[in-house]
Amino acid sequence: MVSVPRAASPDDLLPRAEEILHDVFGHPRFRGEQVQIVTHVAAGGDALVLMPTGGGKSLCYQVPSLLREGVGVVVSPLIALMQDQVAALRQLGLNAAYLNSTLDARSAREVERAFVDGDLDLLYVAPERLTTPACLDLLSRGRIALFAIDEAHCVSQWGHDFRPEYLQLSVLHERFPQVPRIALTATADPQTRDEIIRRLALDEARVFVSSFDRPNIRYAIVDKAEPRAQLLRFIRDEHPGQAGIVYCLSRRKVEETAAWLAEQGIDALPYHAGMDASVRAEHQARFQRDDALVMVATIAFGMGIDKPDVRFVAHLDLPRSIEGYYQETGRAGRDGQPASAWMTYGLADVVQQRRLIDTSEADDAHKRLSTAKLDALLGLCETVGCRRVRLLDYFGEAGKPCGNCDNCLEPPETWDATDAARKALSCIYRTGQRFGVGYLIDVLRGRESDRVRAWQHDKLSVFGVGADLDDNAWRGVFRQLVALGFVWVDHENHGGLRLDESARPVLRGEVEVQMRRTVKRGKLSRAGRAAAQAAAPLTAAASDLLARLKAWRLGVAKEQSVPAYVILHDSTLTELAQRRPQSIEVLHDVPGIGASKLQRYGDALLEVIRRD
Ligand code: ADP
Ligand code: ZN
Repeated sequence: MVSVPRAASPDDLLPRAEEILHDVFGHPRFRGEQVQIVTHVAAGGDALVLMPTGGGKSLCYQVPSLLREGVGVVVSPLIALMQDQVAALRQLGLNAAYLNSTLDARSAREVERAFVDGDLDLLYVAPERLTTPACLDLLSRGRIALFAIDEAHCVSQWGHDFRPEYLQLSVLHERFPQVPRIALTATADPQTRDEIIRRLALDEARVFVSSFDRPNIRYAIVDKAEPRAQLLRFIRDEHPGQAGIVYCLSRRKVEETAAWLAEQGIDALPYHAGMDASVRAEHQARFQRDDALVMVATIAFGMGIDKPDVRFVAHLDLPRSIEGYYQETGRAGRDGQPASAWMTYGLADVVQQRRLIDTSEADDAHKRLSTAKLDALLGLCETVGCRRVRLLDYFGEAGKPCGNCDNCLEPPETWDATDAARKALSCIYRTGQRFGVGYLIDVLRGRESDRVRAWQHDKLSVFGVGADLDDNAWRGVFRQLVALGFVWVDHENHGGLRLDESARPVLRGEVEVQMRRTVKRGKLSRAGRAAAQAAAPLTAAASDLLARLKAWRLGVAKEQSVPAYVILHDSTLTELAQRRPQSIEVLHDVPGIGASKLQRYGDALLEVIRRD
């Protein structure tokens, strides 16, 4: 263990913080608001930190823990994660440990003794354990630098990560009023923020809101045609042999999609809450350790994933809200390297999500909130403007068109759909507001099917008025009418489409309707490839060296039974491959190589580079 000197007084906090950042963590400088947060907490202040996934929240409590006298106590909801975090800290030469139900009694006693003796820098504790009388008693016998409450949105009863144990955490403030607390989350909506402040008694805390932009993530939302084939093409074209997550709504779809991808030669595994716990844990562990595995999962897979080199997150189904979408896509590219957030989206998704809301047991207020959240997400899907601008706007942040989303890279065409919208609405109305899209398109395009004839809809004035558009275009029109709220789906009546009150002016031709033109996929992937190549201009020699550095890392990781990124991140290896440092001094300048890693791996790295 390297000895980490503690700060003597608040005045010299900043230089000491920077020294620790460089020497221990190997980073040249703080990112964004980290520096303000670190010095504020190190000086004894409470903080609420809202930062996107991958923004660098961990350092915000790790550095102050080292600056302050005593042990930093970290509350973290996921046991699987704790072990990797502790392993990563030990790689940095720190004394870190965890207390959770996986420890046997003897090991737990050892950790407790180390805590009381002040031999730890950081102690990770599961929330259900922390709030027991025994653990609180233990805490009162040691010296605590700070409390960090990670994933603080788990106190929110509105969110899908709600953890009842988190509600008990206000006891920390009551028992240890002099110890600073820092709560951290990537969930930024105002309700959750207020709930965290209220439930954790953080009224005095300074709130740090970081930019939620994740510039290295490229957003793309494509029209759903053949989702599986589209997914396969996306993976093969843009992320071959890379780690990624594919989200599906149902367990069955997870199983089927994983099996299908595996048949196509993609290394894919399923993950959902209905699986046997040990199999699930094994799949998660493989994903964490492997750098080329695709995990097909429900949203049960997520909060525990702290893997920096996830290169893509794909959605085959629509999430419930922008918060959900942002949190899930935020798991891509935490290492700052180029990554993709890709989603297929179609009418069936809108219908499905609307039905989930309509048929839920929630009260009206909750349903209204859910509908508003879904509408915001649909707005993102249908927008012809920059996706990032739209996302950031949702979180109250202004942005400029980013040049790194599908709409920026290949601006979609819009068309005047006023006439088409009127025809579609009129067709819904004339056929009695009881039919689904397939049937309505048959009528519009003038197809004399048995069913159309049986209903005598071939006699209607709308029959055949839509021959100028093909099926695909009509599906796009209906999807957008539903997304815009002009039309709703009657779930009690076989999913027939009905007109909303708001459709009247459209029907009467009083308002103009602009729609996004349905595009055939293919072009974008070429644009995507070109941009992806531009983002990683490795020479042949550098990529050769990178491959050998990765092979070396894999060996070391296996030897120590830790994930590869715990040894060194991809971004560090990439920089090594490009810069080819020839001496220990130059090595120390490479981001991600602190004193401990230099000592452990410096010679071996120079050796690999020199052999080149
Ligand atoms: P979060 O918990 O906010 O999702 P992490 O704390 O896991 O994010 O950090 C995400 C990644 O960013 C990690 O790989 C971490 O090493 C890196 N990182 C954080 N702060 C810095 C910094 N100041 N300089 C360089 N890399 C950083
Ligand atoms: Zn953009």
